[in-house]
Amino acid sequence: MAVKKGDLPQKTCAICGRPFTWRKKWAKVWDEVRYCSDRCRRERRSSGQAERPSSTQS
Ligand SMILES: [Zn+2]
Repeated sequence: MAVKKGDLPQKTCAICGRPFTWRKKWAKVWDEVRYCSDRCRRERRSSGQAERPSSTQS
């Protein structure tokens, strides 16, 4: 049984805290989706834990 239309699951974005609704493009990765958009997904990396720079420091 597929998900009925109008009864789509929702999640809360881990970055902006806003709820977002299931999208067709997430059908195969819904369990892994934590962010409402690619923008928030990038925010996770840009702001947050400081990653070690791959380039050598001067
Ligand atoms: Zn978001």
